Amino acid sequence: MATETEAIDKECLVRVALRIRPQNSRELIDMCRVCTSITPGEQQIVLGSDKAFTFDYVYGMNSNQCDIYNECVGRLVDGTLHGYNATVLAYGQTGSGKTYTMGTGFDKASDDYQLGIIPRAIRHIFAGIDSLRFENNATDSVTNSQFSVAVQFIELYNEDVVDLLDPFNKNTSFKIHENENGQITVAGATVKPIHEPQEALTFLQQGALARTTASTKMNDLSSRSHAVFTLFVRRKHIFEPKIQNSDCQFETLTSKFHFVDLAGSERLKRTLATGERAREGISINCGLLALGNCISALGDRSKKVSHVPYRDSKLTRLLQDSLGGNSQTLMIACISPSDRDFMETLNTLKYANRARNIKNKVQINQDQSSRTISSMRREIAALQLELLEYKQELFATSIFNLHYRVELRLI
Ligand code: ADP
Ligand code: MG
Repeated sequence: MATETEAIDKECLVRVALRIRPQNSRELIDMCRVCTSITPGEQQIVLGSDKAFTFDYVYGMNSNQCDIYNECVGRLVDGTLHGYNATVLAYGQTGSGKTYTMGTGFDKASDDYQLGIIPRAIRHIFAGIDSLRFENNATDSVTNSQFSVAVQFIELYNEDVVDLLDPFNKNTSFKIHENENGQITVAGATVKPIHEPQEALTFLQQGALARTTASTKMNDLSSRSHAVFTLFVRRKHIFEPKIQNSDCQFETLTSKFHFVDLAGSERLKRTLATGERAREGISINCGLLALGNCISALGDRSKKVSHVPYRDSKLTRLLQDSLGGNSQTLMIACISPSDRDFMETLNTLKYANRARNIKNKVQINQDQSSRTISSMRREIAALQLELLEYKQELFATSIFNLHYRVELRLI
């Protein structure tokens, strides 16, 4: 069937992209030195004079949003239209460019050049739907697809779930649990169906405004929480055979795309946090710590790890599929180029480097009945071919017999 689906590996490693943001005005005024450099032609970054790290993609200070999207994310979006899950996680200290890169703080007024990953992915999904809605397979069938798309936008704050599409809904007790199909869902959180990109962008902007933010020393509007924007795609793929009297067949593909803007990874003392802020800091670190432990457990090839501590935090429970599970996952490690952030940058590089060892098991999400239909369809096609060959053989034999009889009579 779809060629894009076949191009995707069954087992694939978590990919890691590194992005260095440009120096900000404060760093320029303070005359901070740039302590990062990129090796041309190689996906390598050198921190200081000798700390080299290689990633799947490396983007320097002058990189643009469009290139990052096209090179790292576009194919994941294509995959979701064919039943594959995907996740993009932005990791890094506060002020390193996570929200900018993800586009979690989307504002309709911002210009297209600055658009981050989420708004680009929304547009891409709807453009993809338009082109896939109707496909004419010249030989044997006409296929058309009915798509439904929905969004969810939540925030994990102090290990609590906040529904960003309905922030006043305080009564619901959100539960992150595994449903009967083995998928992790957030029960109680709003899921809004969407029909056009503008609708999804409006929800993204509303959610961004609703995000709980607090100022820290490093970034005035820094987010102290993990924001997870999810796109759900469902595709009913209908096959109408061109042969008369043949039945219509269909299959249903479902997928989800998580866009995760993680909270700042900096150590608590750096933000001079006290009181309430300190409490936030501790639980933010709890989510990131648990994420780090899962990454270590999954990526450690030397020893056989039997237990991955997904249940240690809501964040890791929610991202269970994305790490070691059924998802194509990209981590974008965001860093500052300035020497004053050297230690934080080194921590980010080490953390992201470990994620490269994680192997995910990517599978198409096809419902059981349509899976049966697909295998029956293949069987029917094989039988039809066999029948055709048999008929041709029969025809050839009868022609031969006819000739033979005519010849006998003539003799
Ligand atoms: P984080 O979410 O990691 O705390 P932000 O995304 O909010 O960081 O980025 C901090 C500031 O730096 C913002 O003003 C943002 O616009 C700017 N910024 C980050 N990355 C880039 C970039 N690649 N190019 C231009 N400005 C950037
Ligand atoms: Mg942010």
